[in-house]
Amino acid sequence: MYRYETHLHTAPASKCARASVRENLTFYKSVGYDGVFITNHFLDGNVGCDKSLPYGEQLDFYLADYEEGRAIGREIGLKVFFGVELSHGGTDFLVYGLDGDWYRAHPEIMDMKKSAELPYLREAGALVIQAHPFREAGYIDHIRLFPRCIEGVEVVNACRTPFENHMAEIYAAEYGLLRFAGSDNHRAGGQTDLAGMECKTPVTDEADFIDRVRTGQARIFTWTHDTEGTI
Ligand SMILES: [Zn+2]
Ligand SMILES: [Zn+2]
Repeated sequence: MYRYETHLHTAPASKCARASVRENLTFYKSVGYDGVFITNHFLDGNVGCDKSLPYGEQLDFYLADYEEGRAIGREIGLKVFFGVELSHGGTDFLVYGLDGDWYRAHPEIMDMKKSAELPYLREAGALVIQAHPFREAGYIDHIRLFPRCIEGVEVVNACRTPFENHMAEIYAAEYGLLRFAGSDNHRAGGQTDLAGMECKTPVTDEADFIDRVRTGQARIFTWTHDTEGTI
């Protein structure tokens, strides 16, 4: 099986990430993954730059980690794909299938409420997944669900509790939403519990991956790596 990390944060694009792009990609290569999606916190979330900068300058900063990742990926033989994680008050969404040029051309998304933005992204062709929908934390005032605005649910988030993931499973099942998994890795090999999606044949690009998720050809996997960092 060909394994993909779907939920990965790198420093400095994500302010909360603890590992560089190279540290992350070297780790995933060393444990046999075919590819990763870099899904840093977008400009509406915990992005690592000054939020008073113009949209275009923030986007330059944001995209730099992904562009560095593409170059490192070519160097070490690991596929690096693009995604983003949107945020609203601790409620997060993973978005796949739109590229940096699309975000550059659409600064209006920064002024849209999520119930308008998410359908807008989907109309543009994006796959929108609600990340860890039942996460509870001190900085999250309340759980918000968007069942009519999303296509899938992160039913396994390697950083969340079994209870939170179980509630996400129920949410996905009852609303007939796609089941999805990711690690939410902020620290490369320092993250011991991992989750992602795996396929029988190699994924070629973001559109191919989305097609496989929509048609049930990508399967959830979980694993815990030992201290040597091997699967
Ligand atoms: Zn984070
Ligand atoms: Zn995340």
